Amino acid sequence: MPRLPVAILGATGAVGQKFVALLAEHPWFEIVQLSASADRVGRRYGDVVRWRETTPLPPELARIVMTEAVPTGAARLAFSALDAAVAREVEPAFARAGALVVSNASAFRMAADVPLLIPEVNADHLALLDTQRRVRGWSGGIIANPNCSTAILITALAPLHRAFGVRRLTVATLQAASGAGYPGVPSLDLLDNVIPWIGGEEEKLAEETRKLLGTLEETVVRAAPITASVMVHRVPVTDGHMVSASVEFQTAPSVDDALQALRAFRGSERVAGLPTSPLPPIEVEMRDDRPQTRLDRDRGMGMAVTVGRVRPCPVGHLRFTALGHNLVRGAAGAAVQNAELLVAAGYA
Ligand code: NAP
Repeated sequence: MPRLPVAILGATGAVGQKFVALLAEHPWFEIVQLSASADRVGRRYGDVVRWRETTPLPPELARIVMTEAVPTGAARLAFSALDAAVAREVEPAFARAGALVVSNASAFRMAADVPLLIPEVNADHLALLDTQRRVRGWSGGIIANPNCSTAILITALAPLHRAFGVRRLTVATLQAASGAGYPGVPSLDLLDNVIPWIGGEEEKLAEETRKLLGTLEETVVRAAPITASVMVHRVPVTDGHMVSASVEFQTAPSVDDALQALRAFRGSERVAGLPTSPLPPIEVEMRDDRPQTRLDRDRGMGMAVTVGRVRPCPVGHLRFTALGHNLVRGAAGAAVQNAELLVAAGYA
């Protein structure tokens, strides 16, 4: 089968580079367009990118000449790693021109007709794409993956929500430097330090949680009635976001019931068969001092979420800690898996 031609928008950034690394050998997708800001246009990718991936940049990709972030017709699918303000203009232009945009940006995540997806959790929400195309008159479309911390939290929370119904949630995050992009937070602000603020992040975690765990009712998603109190922190690690949560449920589970639900969690057969889907999506690690960022972030090629420290909570019913790779499960890997779902579902 010929590979589907794809573009990467924002290819020089932290997420964009992870896209290039993940797609270099992808069985279904072939990179034909790379774009970034105007300064890079007309120059070769290998000459403008400050490559921070640990795998070498393949020479055939290094030779690609950068274009503006505009639809050229070469790509049928566009992976967007653009800042939200840029994405707000660029992504609809691609969708209008007939391309499917798989976005990391927050620009359209909460739009009622845009599927916000974690394939193992809510693949059925992809049906919103039909409404979007009808209402907006686009032959392409936009689908989005969640904010990086939300992706990790919700992968862990979804099986517990399905089994016991989440009512209230208190969450504290410990987020890696690469979550702020490249070059991101100045090293002198972050080394030997913790910063208890990331602009807009607490609101995103709360509202995206309600959409992701919501129920598809014909052409709309009814938000899950979950009250969330979120506290975010930027910490001096390179990659990997940790999320600690206290959860109150409709039906209080025992620790054993919760562990069983976490261990048994799988996406649908279609989702489990996608090249980027980790099996299992959740790895339960109940050693006392795990998960740890450096030791556990690369599990399942960066797509698995590690959950540990599951224990009773005197405030909610249960506490746990979840960890995942922010650039893979939280960004580029999530988008590649979403694009694979588009193909498997016949949209691309
Ligand atoms: P980043 O490192 O700052 O990269 C931004 C990219 O956008 C760069 O390639 C930049 O190109 C390009 N760009 C900037 N202005 C542009 C313009 N006017 N036209 C075309 N391209 C332009 O940011 P990032 O961390 O990769 O994040 C990218 C997006 O993903 C953001 O929306 C972010 O919120 C989201 N996200 C990030 C993470 C994460 O863990 N980092 C996780 C989930 C979602 P130049 O190099 O030429 O400036």
